[in-house]
Amino acid sequence: MLKKKTVEDVDFAGKKALVRADFNVPLDSNGNITDDIRIRSTLPTINHVLDAGGSVILMSHLGRPKGKVIPEMSLIPVAKRLGRLLHQDVRLAPDCIGDETEHLAGELQPGEVLLLENLRFHAGEESNDPEFSRRLALLGDVYIDDAFANAHRQHASMIGVPELLKPAVAGFLVKNELNYFHKSLEDPVRPLAAIFGGAKISDKIKAIMRLLEKVDKIIIGGGMAYTFLESMGYCVGRSLVEKEMLELARDIMDRARELGIPFYLPVDAVAAKARGELVEARTYPVQEIPEDCMALDIGPATIALFRSALSGVRTIVWNGPMGVFELSQFSKGTFSMVDIVAQSPALTILGGGDTDVAVHATGNSEKIDYISTGGGAFLKLLETGELPGLNALDDQ
Ligand code: AMP
Repeated sequence: MLKKKTVEDVDFAGKKALVRADFNVPLDSNGNITDDIRIRSTLPTINHVLDAGGSVILMSHLGRPKGKVIPEMSLIPVAKRLGRLLHQDVRLAPDCIGDETEHLAGELQPGEVLLLENLRFHAGEESNDPEFSRRLALLGDVYIDDAFANAHRQHASMIGVPELLKPAVAGFLVKNELNYFHKSLEDPVRPLAAIFGGAKISDKIKAIMRLLEKVDKIIIGGGMAYTFLESMGYCVGRSLVEKEMLELARDIMDRARELGIPFYLPVDAVAAKARGELVEARTYPVQEIPEDCMALDIGPATIALFRSALSGVRTIVWNGPMGVFELSQFSKGTFSMVDIVAQSPALTILGGGDTDVAVHATGNSEKIDYISTGGGAFLKLLETGELPGLNALDDQ
């Protein structure tokens, strides 16, 4: 899967590149973009095509309009921001397919950029409708996938179009993601440690299972840790526990033992009677979490344990926060882990929407080697080692 053609394998002179980007940016109530990292991440690919004498037609979804035109989910703010970042006009087509869009695409000159309106204004995008794909594919001469965060979805612009429009290649963002995936999991410098956190085991169970066969140690924090602890017979009070996952949690720990892989769980937790900013919270050893409390962060002894587990590690892959870091009372565990990982000389790769929010909040993002742009896609890649959107691209 890693041996896909990329933008570096194509001559773009006089060509129109149809680029699937992920411009699903957060907007405030006035429709202003609050974080444009997703737009900036695609600039290297856009500039590469323009510098090589080509033109660029960008397509993306925004929000979940479910096949209807919802004006608040228009890509107008994206066209404006992109224009500012590129220092040139970016025209927004009134639709992503249709006669007028075909006309605008047909008139595009080398060096120019056209943005198509929200793909999900058409139901055909999510249903991977062949006719919708055909109309999109008509617009360009080359297909580029730069939407890693969407590569786990079998949508028309991810799968249908690259089947019709050749060459179909990876952009720099996708190439970068795959390179780091390879460096961290396919050919890592060892020891390799995986850190998992976040709310539920059920979302990540397959990824944990697969990684068990690849890593040298595994560290578990966040809500999911309490299902593991309960499966070992601890009483974890009202902490998040997925009863239907207890057996699997036990199986995972048995498998780790068979493989001789150290499996680190919290030894203490910050717990409270409710989840809130103003509730009274205290630290307890995990054996002593009161029945009426829920564990919402890892405690100081756990931070120290995880710190020592990570010393000497040469590669770290991390998905999911250590606690409810959105509330300052329960953010210390996650933020301390960010510091530990940022200071580690290991190659550090982070994936999963919430984990990167936590890292950005600490201002430490520069010290992490790579922060994946895909939450669901990153997990899917961990789980299966492949992604539908990438399978559709041309092999080298
Ligand atoms: P995920 O999307 O699975 O990575 O989960 C992220 C969410 O997990 C964040 O919103 C956290 O607030 C939440 N979370 C982390 N630790 C806990 C915990 N101990 N109990 C409940 N929720 C948690």
